[in-house]
Amino acid sequence: MNKPVTRLAPSPTGALHLGNARTFLINWAMARQAGWRVVLRIEDLDVERVRDEGYRDACESLTWLGMDWDDGPIYQRHDLMPYQHAVDRLYGLGLIYPCRASRRDIQHAMSAPHDSDEPARDGRDVRYPGLNRPANGTRTSEAAPILGQPSDAAWRLRVPDGLIEYRDRFHGPQSFDVQGQVGDFVVVAKNGMPGYQLAVVVDDARQCVTHVLRGDDLLSSGARQLWLYRLLELEPIPVYTHVPLVCDGHGRRLAKRDDDIRLAWYREQGIAPQRIIGLIAKWCGIIAQDQPIRPMEAGEFCERFDLATMPRTTVNFTEDEHAWLMA
Ligand code: GLU
Repeated sequence: MNKPVTRLAPSPTGALHLGNARTFLINWAMARQAGWRVVLRIEDLDVERVRDEGYRDACESLTWLGMDWDDGPIYQRHDLMPYQHAVDRLYGLGLIYPCRASRRDIQHAMSAPHDSDEPARDGRDVRYPGLNRPANGTRTSEAAPILGQPSDAAWRLRVPDGLIEYRDRFHGPQSFDVQGQVGDFVVVAKNGMPGYQLAVVVDDARQCVTHVLRGDDLLSSGARQLWLYRLLELEPIPVYTHVPLVCDGHGRRLAKRDDDIRLAWYREQGIAPQRIIGLIAKWCGIIAQDQPIRPMEAGEFCERFDLATMPRTTVNFTEDEHAWLMA
């Protein structure tokens, strides 16, 4: 039997905010309750968006809130070889191919059949329509990509038709049509870095991660990741737990660009971390809805957190809650 392992995996693309804090605190509390090993992994492959100060912020903010870890920090960018091995294997299987299409090409190809004059507003979820996919039964004649070397092509994974199913510990049974929803997805970006889906799978497997806990905006990524586990014959297959995100008063999820939700900002204002934890305890149902918020230590949060009684809906960070933090 594998010893249970989880990871805290911040991206240093900005300063951690209250929503990140909630997810990390839940992950940490579940790990410490159940005796899982905790790995701190800094996900810094998104080179264009990573900020130097993001590295320090991630560790400082977690420590400030009272979280600890057993291994790490491990930086993804320090060693690209494990990802290269995975890329080579997918290439050897004939499952990846270069794609020189731009986001604009992809959007154009998507809207053409419907003659739509309303292109997707945010390219992130545009389904890749297979523009450069070699015909079935054939493979690319180009040499395998070398990580760390930018090129004019991204590399995509051939995704079959059909459903990929798994059971999420919080949301229950999941079923995703990966080809129908996102199509062949990127495993090596044009900048020469491994794509998020591939990197996470390679790292979770080599760090022996058995339990993944993260925001439920990544629920559909679970399906892509499980498909990669299968192709790469990796294990252990983790138990996935995706928890609802925190939104602002307008129903938008908290984003790293907003200043006054950053943990560092509260720290600079002299707000005690116990107030942040108290608010998160309220959001997690540890402090009942009809009870006033009160400051709480990380240790008490850890003892009392229970996934089974956590509210099932998105959390809204209200003006009153902000005022309570600042009081
Ligand atoms: N680094 C990602 C983030 O900060 C988390 C990815 C994951 O947990 O799989 O959102």
